[in-house]
Amino acid sequence: MHDRLMTPEIKALLISIGSVSIDPSLVPRARGSTAGPGAGISSVFFRSGERRVRLSIREDSPLSIEKSGDESGGESMVSLFFEGKELARGRLEPALAHCPEQAFITLCERCIFDCKYCPVPKLQGHVKSEEDVLKIVDEVFKAGQLKAISLTSGVEETVEGEVDRVLGLLPALKKYGVPIGVSVYPTEGCSRKFYEAGASEVKYNVETMDSEIFQKVCGGLFLDEILERLKEAVDIFGKNRVFSNFIIGLGETDDAVREGIETLAKMGVIPVLRPVSPHPLRAGDCFAERPSPERLLKLAKMEAEILKKYGLKPELAETMCPRCTGCDLVPSDL
Ligand code: SF4
Repeated sequence: MHDRLMTPEIKALLISIGSVSIDPSLVPRARGSTAGPGAGISSVFFRSGERRVRLSIREDSPLSIEKSGDESGGESMVSLFFEGKELARGRLEPALAHCPEQAFITLCERCIFDCKYCPVPKLQGHVKSEEDVLKIVDEVFKAGQLKAISLTSGVEETVEGEVDRVLGLLPALKKYGVPIGVSVYPTEGCSRKFYEAGASEVKYNVETMDSEIFQKVCGGLFLDEILERLKEAVDIFGKNRVFSNFIIGLGETDDAVREGIETLAKMGVIPVLRPVSPHPLRAGDCFAERPSPERLLKLAKMEAEILKKYGLKPELAETMCPRCTGCDLVPSDL
């Protein structure tokens, strides 16, 4: 039964649910991290064949993971169940710094902005020193799992300050000889500086391409400005090296998603369609509904078609979310 692989339909269902219950002793050793969605909640990475999914650990989830008793290449296999029925078999991947095979580090776990779906401004977390960051990268390197370094950050005081924080770190990170990805709120000219300092990819998040929704949920930010910075980034980093998270589930229509993907792809930017993760600290702050498996499949197919039309290949990504793919149904999953 080793061939019970996670299909695109199963991955869509898992992402739509977003959580799993699991005996904590099965979870491979992992560090804490608050990068990306599900901040503050520990999660698990399940890999089956070529596909990977990240699920938050929740005791009352309809999904569960249990030891299957099988082994493959010396690794213990696990089974994933939905309401008691086995859906797929695979293995659990260790995530030493947020996600497998990367040191993905959130430099500043605070934010002066107040995007209505995001728990970070409410958490007022830790700001890592250069020493903290290098220690994490070293740990992943020594474990032999460092294939990329990815940096992201909230905003402690100013957006310029976060760009400088990244620029201050890049010289020390270059010596690891792996691709480096950077995802921050962009400033004019920052792409050139990141590129010259050794970054190979950037992700500047539009969050949503529906300008009315953007205004409501990301009131302190400017969509046109982010798009302008994305355009600059493609000029510098080139096609297939610039990404942008596009949140799904904030009340946007599928037509608006199509239009948004088209606009970004035409510019040479690869959108990361990211299902919203309604967070308890943000209950009632904005419309946030996890997309259904059917919608995820429909939008991923739509994205695959549009990216193909513009010659974009997300599977070439070397860093950050497009490399990890744990939270999203991506074109290469189909
Ligand atoms: S897809 Fe991105 S946010 Fe999700 S686990 Fe992977 S690196 Fe983190």
